[in-house]
Amino acid sequence: IKNNFLKGERDEMNRFIQYNPVKWIFGKGSINRLQAELSQFGKNILFVYGGGSIKQHGVYDEVIKQLEEMEANVYELSGVEPNPRLAVVHKGIGICKEKNIDFILAVGGGSVIDSAKAIAAGAKYEGDVWELIAEGKKISEALPIGTVLTLAATGSEMNAGLVITNADTREKIDWHSQHVFPQFSICDPAYTVTVPRDQTAFGVIDIMCHIMENYFHQGEGTELQDGFSEQLLRMLVETAPRLLEQPDQYEYREKVMYAGTVALNGTLQSGYRGDWTAHIIEHAVSGVHDIPHAAGLAILFPTWMEYALDSRPARFSQFASRVFGVKTAGRTEREAGVEGIQALRNFWRHLGAPAHLSNYGIKHDSLGEIADHVMKRGEFGRFCPMNRDGVLSVLRASL
Ligand code: NAP
Ligand code: FE
Repeated sequence: IKNNFLKGERDEMNRFIQYNPVKWIFGKGSINRLQAELSQFGKNILFVYGGGSIKQHGVYDEVIKQLEEMEANVYELSGVEPNPRLAVVHKGIGICKEKNIDFILAVGGGSVIDSAKAIAAGAKYEGDVWELIAEGKKISEALPIGTVLTLAATGSEMNAGLVITNADTREKIDWHSQHVFPQFSICDPAYTVTVPRDQTAFGVIDIMCHIMENYFHQGEGTELQDGFSEQLLRMLVETAPRLLEQPDQYEYREKVMYAGTVALNGTLQSGYRGDWTAHIIEHAVSGVHDIPHAAGLAILFPTWMEYALDSRPARFSQFASRVFGVKTAGRTEREAGVEGIQALRNFWRHLGAPAHLSNYGIKHDSLGEIADHVMKRGEFGRFCPMNRDGVLSVLRASL
């Protein structure tokens, strides 16, 4: 979709089509809806989850109880890891084909949900699912999936995206298809009370990045979307430190979970196109080095901002003043923008995020491989155009 506004003469939004069929079931005790939601899909259910946190906080028992009551045939697929691997996806596709699975139920965070989406697509595809993802192919059908969210971060519960890692090729690639939208997502903030401190902070950082990837756009006429984004960011800046101090405070968990879904379900993306460079580079870093997604973002996003600052300093000045209260009077937009970037870095450090790729043992010698993986998608960056030199420059500044 090309910008269709005439700069300087009219302040128009871009054309857009928004489509989101996910039934979003939010709030305390919403797990009670599970049976009713599943009733229309058949009895053979693949139940996908991660390394076992769901067994510690009771969600597993609750889900099994409801599945037993409806006399479902349940096939369990556990062991989805953060930065979810293709190998587990292949295993799930095998079960779907062998057991005639009707429905995939994902219980966990983004990694579990993304794996379930890839399994759903692969189960109805003749070839290898990696071919779909790596070549950005389109599909015409997928198995239906539903989710029970246990970690607020990715927004995967209400979008059509997934990110999967191929450990053999060291690539981590995102793919999108409207056929993998969940049928429903059960989002009970109480389930996130047990999320450890570091994952809680990472969740907030990922959510903020999803908002900011869109906020830095070249569109016009988007005051309302901008205001919504700024308010979400201010709310997260205010809430996150309180949540880390009182991790079992439901009200804080609720705010963060709501923000996580809204940040990436299409609401903020209507009327303009965001940039997404930091996410694109981060996926390549995680593919090679298996670092947590949001840890990578906490390092790369501010560095990208410094790189992109001169593409539209006014945007950075607005971000600085409206999100972090930076004073703009008597200063250039660039000066205010720089202070805003520093405020963001300080905030994330305060939450406990790492500041350098070298904290994960990443050195100069792997930057070439990372840049090669990034550039497989061609040149990109809608806010600030990126090429291989740009990618390397952001990576070097992030070491
Ligand atoms: P995650 O990788 O799904 O989970 C991280 C860790 O949190 C796991 O060790 C998990 O343990 C634990 N955990 C989850 N819920 C818990 C709970 N209630 N209590 C205690 N521990 C809990 O984290 P995520 O940030 O949600 O997902 C990250 C992935 O999503 C990355 O691969 C990222 O690239 C991708 N992503 C996707 C999208 C999208 O739109 N699809 C957007 C952004 C990022 P267990 O394994 O034991 O459960
Ligand atoms: Fe993300």
